[in-house]
Amino acid sequence: MTATTTMDWTDPVTCPFCGDELPSPGAGFIDHIDENGDCERGFEHWRANLAGDLAGEWSG
Ligand SMILES: [Zn+2]
Repeated sequence: MTATTTMDWTDPVTCPFCGDELPSPGAGFIDHIDENGDCERGFEHWRANLAGDLAGEWSG
């Protein structure tokens, strides 16, 4: 599976996971994933992937 590890998050007021419009970028997104378990899991997974990539580079 070659899923994109870097999300194409071009619109900061749109949730990249469900496409919903956010009340505001940043804080609005945090509120949004707080109320949407699926999006929160997607975000955690995405963040974990980033952390994993960084860890891989740093361990070299
Ligand atoms: Zn969402």
